[in-house]
Amino acid sequence: MVKKLYFLPAGFCFLDQSLVNGNLPAGKLIEMPVWCFLLETTDGPILIDTGMPDPFVNNPDYYKGTRREGRLVPKMTEDDRIENILKRVGYQIDDIQTVISSHLHLDHAGGNEHFRKAPIVLQKSEFDFAIHNEDYSPKECRIPDLNYQLIEGDFELVPGVQILSTPGHSVGHQSVLVKTERSGDVLLTIDLAYNKDIFNHDLPFLSANSKMASNSIEKIKKLVQEVHPEVIFFGHDGVQAKDWNVLYPNFL
Ligand SMILES: [Zn+2]
Repeated sequence: MVKKLYFLPAGFCFLDQSLVNGNLPAGKLIEMPVWCFLLETTDGPILIDTGMPDPFVNNPDYYKGTRREGRLVPKMTEDDRIENILKRVGYQIDDIQTVISSHLHLDHAGGNEHFRKAPIVLQKSEFDFAIHNEDYSPKECRIPDLNYQLIEGDFELVPGVQILSTPGHSVGHQSVLVKTERSGDVLLTIDLAYNKDIFNHDLPFLSANSKMASNSIEKIKKLVQEVHPEVIFFGHDGVQAKDWNVLYPNFL
């Protein structure tokens, strides 16, 4: 059972708007919040995603001179390193029982390298596609010899923590449905859909396979109709993040 679900801000990424909504022209950057989530459970603390990699700290020019220049600009401070994020809620790296890695992109798996002991739960398809793919994400996101627990498809990690296979945005992307003790079901879409508009209207956005991305959105919409989650939290929804700060405490 999940006693608490912490929403942990982990910096920002600026992404070209054409990658957030394929119907918009390129040339303007959109600020997107980056998140990690900590679950306090009767089976110990579980971390979902680990933020951005250390070389991004105070280094918005990381992608200068690459094909991503001008389309992707990280905004990360010392405070956004995973050990400092955890410190703010009273945890250290070694306290974490299990890491759920939604996928191996730069804004989700950057701190994975610091978890040398805890199992890192990842879809096998994501591991196979990405782990040796140098163009995929910074090397800190793709350390091959961590303690990976590779899964295929949907998977109940512990009671109240349901991992949902939602490929499309990345080859082995996964979302998480969390059953919290006090606030009911919370659906963390992660990058199944960056924001509410993409989810509601199935807008084209940055995807490895847009057909698969649409199918995954369809699958999760069906689940929403069955489960009626209290909260659906999107991976990079700037509008929702602002509302969230006003309307909710930082945990449920
Ligand atoms: Zn992302």
